[in-house]
Amino acid sequence: MTDTIPSSAARSTTAALRPLLVADDRMFDEHRPRGYHPERPERLGAARRALFRAETAGIPTHRIAGRDATPEELSVAHDRAYVETLFALSGREARLDADTYVSARSVDAARRAAGSASALVESLIAAEHDAKVGLAIVRPPGHHATRDVGMGFCLFNNAAVAAYAALARGLQRVAIVDWDVHHGNGTQDIFWDDGRVLYLSLHQFPFYPGTGAAEEVGTGEGKGATVNVPLSAGANDATYSAAFHEIVEPVLHEFAPELIIVSAGFDAHERDPLASMRVSAQGFATMARSVARAAAASAKGRVAVLLEGGYDLGALEDSLFATLSALASGDGTHAPLPPLDEVAPSHRRDITDARKIAHRAFRSA
Ligand SMILES: [Zn+2]
Repeated sequence: MTDTIPSSAARSTTAALRPLLVADDRMFDEHRPRGYHPERPERLGAARRALFRAETAGIPTHRIAGRDATPEELSVAHDRAYVETLFALSGREARLDADTYVSARSVDAARRAAGSASALVESLIAAEHDAKVGLAIVRPPGHHATRDVGMGFCLFNNAAVAAYAALARGLQRVAIVDWDVHHGNGTQDIFWDDGRVLYLSLHQFPFYPGTGAAEEVGTGEGKGATVNVPLSAGANDATYSAAFHEIVEPVLHEFAPELIIVSAGFDAHERDPLASMRVSAQGFATMARSVARAAAASAKGRVAVLLEGGYDLGALEDSLFATLSALASGDGTHAPLPPLDEVAPSHRRDITDARKIAHRAFRSA
């Protein structure tokens, strides 16, 4: 019976992309807290389970090697004195603040994390394996690290170092979309007056680290290239979907980045112990498809997803699996959106206010 043959035409329209993957570098396990800390090596075990599930589900990836960021690369995103201070802590234990530990190999891990994020971006720009999308599973996270301060579990700012790596390879405009539940004050700080890098963050607000109000829009050449979407607690898949549809996608369309880096924390998940959002694993997949859609318009589809936070191990595993599946399946133009009438009135106001302010800043820049 010929009519039982699956439609190859239908399949070819959703041809699987083969994401690049920087993962399973044992160096990232070497950043170890003394006693319990939510940002712990066990998070990588959750990531490995997600990758195993992806392999089992037939989701193909190309593994690429990470590398160490050089002092020169780190000193573009950070003050040289800060880089030297951290390098001097190599082999020692220290605390940068009450939350941010440094174990004997943490600085080595942080160098590898920033360098691996850069390696992923460089591979995408070079179109290695014809890949358009990729995922870097790294520790420690980076988005709270400012030019000269490590904080909030972060030592070097992986997304910022990777964005500079892209600029160094000739790209003119890079966007960083940060869906970690915390505001990436460090990334905002680094690109505050730099119009080449759009920083766009959705985060619980008010919340740690206290920054990320919609009125924070950047300055000088960077005015309008910082876009904050502060959301009150309880935001769900529909809230995020509406924010992506009404703010993230239009802003990306206007900015027309040549590469999109995602600061992908999964701590907006409903089971995360640190925050109070209600996002599901599928919610992250929806965000990934939205970014992929924007990247298809101006960035040759190039999306580099970097792991930031996410502290419930099961939620992290599920969310990483969903995100990788979404990346592998493309922009999902026909994927269903969550019902937008499930956006609470308070979140509707958050989105409307943030959209107006972003629009005004963009226009007046
Ligand atoms: Zn976070």
